[in-house]
Amino acid sequence: MGVDIPTLPGAELRVPETFSRLYDLAYNLWWSWDAMNQLWRSISPELWTQYRNPVEMLSVVDPATWKVLDHSEVFQDQYADTVRRFDNYMTADDTWWDRHYADAIDGPVAYLCAEHGVHSSMPIYSGGLGVLAGDHTKSASDLGVPFVAVGLLYRRGYFRQEIEASGDQQHMYPVVDTSRMPVLPVAGRGGQLKVEIEFPGRTVLAAVWKMQAGRVPILLLDTDIPDNADADRPITHMLYVRGREMRFAQEYILGIGAVRALKALGIRPATWHVNEGHAAMSLLERLADEVGSGASLEDAEKAVRANTLFTLHTPVPAGNEVFEMPLVEKYLNHWPRRVDSDIAYLAHMGSSREGQNGHFDLGALAIRLSSFVNGVSQRHAAVATGDWGHLLGGEAVHGITNGVHTPTWVSRGNKRLLTEVISSEWLTQLIEDPSVAEKLRQVPDTRIWEDHLARKRLLTRFSRGRLRRQYARHGASPDELRAIDTLLPPDRLTIGFARRFATYKRALLMFHNIPWLQAILTNPDRPAQVIFAGKAHPADKMGQEYIRRIIELSKSPELAGHIYVLEDYDIRMGRFLTQGVDVWLNNPRPPQEASGTSGMKAAMNGGLNLSILDGWWAEGFNGRNGWAFGLEWGDGNHQAQDNEDALALYKVLQDEVVPLYYERDESGTPGAWVAMMKEAMISSLVGFSTNRMVKQYAEEAYVPLGKRLGG
Ligand SMILES: *Cc1c(COP(=O)(O)O)cnc(C)c1O
Repeated sequence: MGVDIPTLPGAELRVPETFSRLYDLAYNLWWSWDAMNQLWRSISPELWTQYRNPVEMLSVVDPATWKVLDHSEVFQDQYADTVRRFDNYMTADDTWWDRHYADAIDGPVAYLCAEHGVHSSMPIYSGGLGVLAGDHTKSASDLGVPFVAVGLLYRRGYFRQEIEASGDQQHMYPVVDTSRMPVLPVAGRGGQLKVEIEFPGRTVLAAVWKMQAGRVPILLLDTDIPDNADADRPITHMLYVRGREMRFAQEYILGIGAVRALKALGIRPATWHVNEGHAAMSLLERLADEVGSGASLEDAEKAVRANTLFTLHTPVPAGNEVFEMPLVEKYLNHWPRRVDSDIAYLAHMGSSREGQNGHFDLGALAIRLSSFVNGVSQRHAAVATGDWGHLLGGEAVHGITNGVHTPTWVSRGNKRLLTEVISSEWLTQLIEDPSVAEKLRQVPDTRIWEDHLARKRLLTRFSRGRLRRQYARHGASPDELRAIDTLLPPDRLTIGFARRFATYKRALLMFHNIPWLQAILTNPDRPAQVIFAGKAHPADKMGQEYIRRIIELSKSPELAGHIYVLEDYDIRMGRFLTQGVDVWLNNPRPPQEASGTSGMKAAMNGGLNLSILDGWWAEGFNGRNGWAFGLEWGDGNHQAQDNEDALALYKVLQDEVVPLYYERDESGTPGAWVAMMKEAMISSLVGFSTNRMVKQYAEEAYVPLGKRLGG
């Protein structure tokens, strides 16, 4: 069973006694990955469509609705069934962890991360890192790993994106009302638990909230409380805030606050997982704790290192956190005294290279104080070993390739199919016995194809809805809005490209040679269309310029009707896209894509990856499950590389992808294409789920490191 966190009551939800367990369901995001769940929609389809957040919805459902539901046997059965599944899930004592590691370690795994993407209703994630953290947490819950996550409660979230007719990105920062969110105040002495953190000349308090994902609590720290000065309240407002000092202050709260919150709750983690450098200052706090309880600094370092693992997530410099030393000293001036040392020691711990002390690198700090360092694909591990080997004393960076949480990302229809042809334990069976995959290969092509077309139609409907909202805001006429109903026809080859508009992801690559692209996309016999989506960081002017350019091209006479841009990419849109497109395109500049996970989501649903051999695809591509193109390594000449990769992209699209898609049998099914879809599903399910990934973390790190503690 999970780590229990005492909480105070949340919002006053208007739930009648007969359905009182809805309260527990609303405050546990388990519902979001429960395969059967339609419960919230059944309460009120209109309210559900409006909010998609049970806590918010339950605070507005009116008494008349409950009266109707009180007399609905269908609803009562659905309610009872959901509660039963939920209780079974929460109390199961025969999980994977129970069977293999029941008493292996003496305390939970603490998982520290700056973003947690569990569900669209909690906008405290920006992209791949956050969604991965959410998926990791959900699989830890499914597998029964004793696990507690810690992060920050960003009340202004990561921004919501609007795109103007000009293509300019607008940044919206809606205020998160905690009484409408699936978070509960953690109980402390005399009210909500708050931890104290020393700031220059003052103390800042961080209130502690709990968001629950199945068996796993996610503790969220929040400085926006009346106890703090107005100037300190916004510290935790915005994810990846621009100001360097504000960013440092956030990561200081995250690192120090995480350790103190766990201590205040009496939780003694057996293993600490520092997920990316943002939370690395937790290591300073733990060092000080060790010295405070009598250890020498040398022994304290050993003790901290022994049960800490650190995961690197990007080889891109902008992704690593490096601060100027004077800023660090401003905040950590008092810290050397706590460990009986001096500021030179602190500077040394954060230096990227020995003897270079001007900058404080949180990644370097974490590497120095971890005994297990990993990258998120085999290729990334090799690249990271090159970058960081000098701090690893000759050891290599381990490779634990990312995955995605199958219950979240595999479509309802595909879950049903897999359950039907394999069993309800399809994922475990596929991972443990690859011959089970034969059963999927035997499924008639028409079944796979028709399921896929159904999801494609859902994507079309979803996209048209988004475009209508977008164009209406731009002032389009009723006739123009009506014409949206003819856009994105689902019988066309549809290519998806959705990810953050970070420049290394090269969103403009396909526009290198517009006449050639036009010839491929607008061929009347074999048309194709591309859907783009993604946010550019508010400080990333180049990324915003890319969006503007794609909007412009989407309206150009050459490409209009074949290029679309959807605004406000998030987890929900990600599900529609990765479940509905035919092809998932990824063309990063290698080797900068540490892993990439969206391609795994597409593959699990039968989407075919068309990707540069970087990140996960370098190990995921097997020649039968999609396409690889372009250079595997650049020589630093970006322009030449982009040229070459774009040519390779056009060739593979024109000669392989498009013809294969339109090669149909008498029933209209593209048999060879469907054969590839099956291979994509099998290879991604076998290799790239977070179930596989979390098991690997447990076996290679959580258990061996956690055992050192008591042993
Ligand atoms: C999966 C996912 C990502 C990660 O995509 P990459 O392929 O790693 O770029 C980013 N954002 C959202 C909303 C996702 O669901």
